[in-house]
Amino acid sequence: MTKKERYKKVFEWFEENRPIAETELRYRDPFQLLIAVILAAQCTDKRVNIITPALYEAFPTPEVLAVSTPEAVYEYIKSVSYPNNKSKHLVNMAKMLVENYGGKVPETIEELIKIPGVGRKTANVVASVAFNVPALAVDTHVFRVSNRIGLTDNAKTPLETEKELTHYIPKRLWSKAHHWLILHGRYTCIARKPKCEECGISAYCLYFGKNVVIVT
Ligand code: SF4
Repeated sequence: MTKKERYKKVFEWFEENRPIAETELRYRDPFQLLIAVILAAQCTDKRVNIITPALYEAFPTPEVLAVSTPEAVYEYIKSVSYPNNKSKHLVNMAKMLVENYGGKVPETIEELIKIPGVGRKTANVVASVAFNVPALAVDTHVFRVSNRIGLTDNAKTPLETEKELTHYIPKRLWSKAHHWLILHGRYTCIARKPKCEECGISAYCLYFGKNVVIVT
């Protein structure tokens, strides 16, 4: 199977079998989404969803968060990973929104990436989820799953993965493909022991073809 055919089959399967593909983070507006995605770096969406309701209530707008302190924010986020750094990032992020963007979250990846605590992955997620900008964010799941399936040729960095995926996947599917691959990595193609026996795309998967012996 050529790589082009693999892409076609894999994403046809996702389109047909996973018509709904969206973030599991809970948020009501772009500001809350930005907070949640910053907190979700190196942390699970589940943990982030537990702590964000109280955080959103305490800091409902960029203006309120901007005049707060990292110490005050820390109390709400101490159970996520890297709470010290993330507290500082959240306050500085809010300050930048107030000072540079009139208290609004900017819509472009180029602007988002300049915000404290926002890397390329976070910028891509916020731009695509909140503003429908075609973007394909590569997190640890997308990176691993893409290599396993054979969508990438042993990409060494998330940026290499992003370049390869966006080369082959039609632009209209970039945002969905991000969620498809994340959810597939979270629930089926899990890091330690992929559940190949219940995987709908095993027929097109390079790892499956090389490693799984079918006993008849
Ligand atoms: S067949 Fe196995 S390795 Fe391949 S995508 Fe499915 S779960 Fe992952």
